[in-house]
Amino acid sequence: MNDHHATPDSAVGVLDPREVEEIRQFWGGLGLPGLVDVHTHFMPERVLRKVWDYFDAMGPLTGGAAWPITYRHEEDERSAVLRAFGVRAFTAMLYPHKAGMARWLNTWAVDFARRTPDCLHTATLFPEPDVEAYVREAVEAGARVFKAHVQVGAYDPTDELLRSAWGLLAEAGVPVVIHCGSGPAPGKHTGPEPIAAVLARHPRLRLIVAHLGMPEYEDFLTLAEQYDQVRLDTTMAFTDFSEQLMPFPKRALPRLADLGDRVLLGSDFPNIPYPYLHQLRALERLDLGPDWLRAVCHDNAARLFAL
Ligand SMILES: [Zn+2]
Repeated sequence: MNDHHATPDSAVGVLDPREVEEIRQFWGGLGLPGLVDVHTHFMPERVLRKVWDYFDAMGPLTGGAAWPITYRHEEDERSAVLRAFGVRAFTAMLYPHKAGMARWLNTWAVDFARRTPDCLHTATLFPEPDVEAYVREAVEAGARVFKAHVQVGAYDPTDELLRSAWGLLAEAGVPVVIHCGSGPAPGKHTGPEPIAAVLARHPRLRLIVAHLGMPEYEDFLTLAEQYDQVRLDTTMAFTDFSEQLMPFPKRALPRLADLGDRVLLGSDFPNIPYPYLHQLRALERLDLGPDWLRAVCHDNAARLFAL
């Protein structure tokens, strides 16, 4: 984008101009060139519609909470909204809920990344016999980040079928955003124990623990302290919505401050029950200071992905 303040045509009409202005003032005031958001969802339309149906039904994915989707727009409008907010780079978090689906999702994601240059080419995986082959193909095709969803996929991350895929990703240094905490609702294999076992086997694996590991925040902070390639994304953490259901323990704030070089902005856009700005304000009100905010909202991800 040449003009900092240009609003892409496709975003006009779905945007709240005040929100755009406040978001731009947020990162502009920090002296940043924009934001990097490592946790945004783009996926094939019919899969996304199904995800939205889940949220509408307040089913197991939401832990029974009402979850109105704030940015329920067409795909081109959604990416245009992120651009208008000044998100320099984002991801296409997509994930299978069963075997036989990941390869197809990865094919879609290659095409999405091709037509969306500011989206980091994203891929996914599932424990199945061909997982090593398609993970290798995705890495060779230039995938910059993977998404793994332990709750929706209902698989054990220590599954033997995944062993070589984790090894390959560790060796390639490709980060994996992993939803492995037990929020908003626990799954059969969520929680810190399986992840600790994966890391014991693959200590260089670049896991980015989604949602700061909520509600097991402190256990995942411990893993990040133990393994220097483990990072955490802020997705939905500290918002009024999450604080009501799964509050972050105040006593852990100094640990979060110390890990300031390994916390990355994530939002869950577009599937959030509040405006995007609220995630940024929720980070700001932690009062960890402008250096921490600069690192979290831009610099850490810019360094990790060599932007
Ligand atoms: Zn998400």
